[in-house]
Amino acid sequence: MTPLEFDARHLWHPYTNVADPGPMHLIDRAEGVYLYREDGVKMIDAMSSWWCAIHGHRHPAITAAMQQQLDRMPHVMFGGLTHRPAIDLGRKMVALLPERLDRIFYCDSGSVSIEVAMKMAVQFQMAHGRTDKVEFATIRGGYHGDTWKAMSVCDPVNGMHGLFRGALSIQHFLPRPSLRLGDDWPDDPAQNGLDALEQLLRDKAHRLAALVLEPVVQGAGGMYFYHPEWLRRAKALCQAHDVLVIFDEIATGFGRTGELFAATHAGVTPDIICLGKALTGGHISFAATVTTEQVAYGIGNSEAGVFMHGPTYMANPLACAAGIASLGLLEDGDWQSRVRAIEAQMKAELEPARGLPGVADVRVLGAIGVIEMEHTVDPRIAHRRAPETGVWLRPFARNIYCMPPYVISGDELSRVTAAMVKLARGDA
Ligand SMILES: *Cc1c(COP(=O)(O)O)cnc(C)c1O
Repeated sequence: MTPLEFDARHLWHPYTNVADPGPMHLIDRAEGVYLYREDGVKMIDAMSSWWCAIHGHRHPAITAAMQQQLDRMPHVMFGGLTHRPAIDLGRKMVALLPERLDRIFYCDSGSVSIEVAMKMAVQFQMAHGRTDKVEFATIRGGYHGDTWKAMSVCDPVNGMHGLFRGALSIQHFLPRPSLRLGDDWPDDPAQNGLDALEQLLRDKAHRLAALVLEPVVQGAGGMYFYHPEWLRRAKALCQAHDVLVIFDEIATGFGRTGELFAATHAGVTPDIICLGKALTGGHISFAATVTTEQVAYGIGNSEAGVFMHGPTYMANPLACAAGIASLGLLEDGDWQSRVRAIEAQMKAELEPARGLPGVADVRVLGAIGVIEMEHTVDPRIAHRRAPETGVWLRPFARNIYCMPPYVISGDELSRVTAAMVKLARGDA
């Protein structure tokens, strides 16, 4: 068996049919914006490897930090023990995060950070004697991960609800905010879409622990950008009903939307924020759930007293070291001018796709570029074509999109946008 034959026969890949996995590339090395196949073919990673590798692959500052950490201590348990990497990363996060978000729970992956956030919300409500508040509200079109509770707040149609109907706990789905980023904001709740939230809170607030959503940008649920004012109003409404607000910034955190956090677009501080993906610059799996002193102390003063969660690899020092280096690279602010330049270039170069047959919409925010088609796009076509265009794209549903590393050059980005437009045009 060749390596690729073994892979096809024995290894699962994400969201892939084992009987028909489609084209597969054997990647041997990754450096900067490039992925290198074993046979030497190179492709620009226009996905930042699922939105993580914001500084490019194998960044020298991040790999050096990880190597040094590896020489001292790859891992120790976090119960009763602590270490400099966790502390130093914490300092950096507290300095960067919106004010008041300063109680950090480190965990392994994005989905786990959502589980942790939802558990925090329920324990917080219980601590205040609100034991019926165990359900969650969210908006349609969301994606929050693949673990069980996270899955329950993913979009009920595009997500996995259809498939796992009956197995998931019932949550409350509001319509996706219809006003787009940049639209005028009408104050009438029937027009701005807050009427549904007002109604839900009137009827169900006594059962709701929290509202969970991706602020401004919905990622894997459809690459949709909505009006930040919706968030500001929603936060105030929820607060009035003792419903916590959880922002899932696993995709949007660390500059992707042009602000360090998408919450900044709305000027809102949630009660809990979930971070992952780019936290280590795409070098190792890691995530964090960060909350306020009020929520942390609320749980601390509850009957249980302790927060009931503790992953084995919590605060893994190697991952913390990668996080410290990655956040260090963001501190000089250079990322923001890069993301602005990427945004301007993508706006110019993707716009011509708007006129193509089958194209429903073209939209760009920060370093996110989307061509939305009227029909579902087969990712296998993009996978097959990648070696020839030199651009790695993985479209999903109706979206041909890119989220390039911030270090991509103008010429490289032009190749990405050209490959996207070509895919939209359906050129062979
Ligand atoms: C990727 C993602 C998750 C899940 O993160 P994993 O690390 O894959 O578990 C959750 N929410 C959002 C918005 C994401 O983009």
